[in-house]
Amino acid sequence: MRKQLFDIPKGIIYLDGNSLGPLPVSVNKKLNQTVNDEWRTLLIKGWNDAGWHRQPLTLGDRLAKLIGAQANTVVVGDTLSIKIYQALAASLQMRPDRKVVLSDNGNFPTDLYMAKGLLDSLDKDYELRIVDPEAIAENLDESVAALMLTQVDYRTGRLHNMKELTARAHAVGSVAIWDLAHSAGAMPIDLEACNAEFAAGCTYKYLNAGPGAPAFIYVRPDIVNDIKPALAGWLGHASPFGFELNYTPGPAIERMRVGTPPVLQMSALDAALDIWDGVSMSEIRKKSILLSELFISEVEKRCPTLNLVSPRDSAKRGSQVSFAFENGYAAMQAIIAGGVIGDFRAPNIMRFGFTPLYIDEDDVRQAVDVITDVIQNNLWDREEYKTRKEVT
Ligand SMILES: *Cc1c(COP(=O)(O)O)cnc(C)c1O
Repeated sequence: MRKQLFDIPKGIIYLDGNSLGPLPVSVNKKLNQTVNDEWRTLLIKGWNDAGWHRQPLTLGDRLAKLIGAQANTVVVGDTLSIKIYQALAASLQMRPDRKVVLSDNGNFPTDLYMAKGLLDSLDKDYELRIVDPEAIAENLDESVAALMLTQVDYRTGRLHNMKELTARAHAVGSVAIWDLAHSAGAMPIDLEACNAEFAAGCTYKYLNAGPGAPAFIYVRPDIVNDIKPALAGWLGHASPFGFELNYTPGPAIERMRVGTPPVLQMSALDAALDIWDGVSMSEIRKKSILLSELFISEVEKRCPTLNLVSPRDSAKRGSQVSFAFENGYAAMQAIIAGGVIGDFRAPNIMRFGFTPLYIDEDDVRQAVDVITDVIQNNLWDREEYKTRKEVT
């Protein structure tokens, strides 16, 4: 429990760290330093003297430890949509004779949109094949260039077996790309043992680096030097300051960099990552399961009109619990008004994330009290809660 490391407003129980992590106390001071001691004082010298230029790589090395990867295999930058695009483009180059990208209908839409956009731009006979999550294995055949999946379903929390599906993909000669958006910082990940070629994730969810914080990408070290980046940005060039007219990819993972990195957001990420020093991810996982189980049993006991849509088996679930409820949007607004913050995903899903760094059993019990009050007393049945905001 590291609650004191976060600055969460009094009276709020925050069950939405799966969407946007709360503010780590250390970020304020760190950002202040970056703004005043670096940007203001060093001006352009900051790229060298404050290490801004190398920071996508040094932060990548810190993140690597949290996802079971070696140093020099992860780089930070851009958004997750962009990183997925890069990974997929590289995968298609690796399997030029294959035309199918396989994914599932539990994947986050941006991953599917980016894939479709890329495939359409290639103007060949490419196909994005989207199947049920349970049907992945039976759809893996020798036409599949890349298997592109998100480990934890953003809506239901359903957890894919990353190691097993990667092995199955490899058995038919396909490349495996994993989106770790809802698993990095939530549970142990052993990328190296899993042997996937690519992985990517974001840092503003369970890693608490703030709104708009950059994404990360991992490339397996034995293939990285064969990649010709589709997004051949100048900072991924072998010598960005040689300003050559032709692109030569930089060494290893550096080639997955694109353009100028967001220095202030990287600084926030750097401070946010301090929280993990000395934290055991398997301990986090154990506690997250404990909290989720408590939440499920209390909600089911007290709010029988809510239907669990997350897997009941904790081994098949990430760190979030979702319930379907017809008036889910309005109910979530009423719950938020009661001081418990979760979120809503169309069409009818109320989503609650459990992050043991700052949530304990008391918080779970109190949250269930608020939810029960809203559901049993129909507190959601007010106009002000029914008007959808732009961001749900
Ligand atoms: C949150 C999330 C994203 C977000 O992508 P951005 O480009 O960073 O906005 C993408 N994929 C998945 C699976 C996500 O959960």
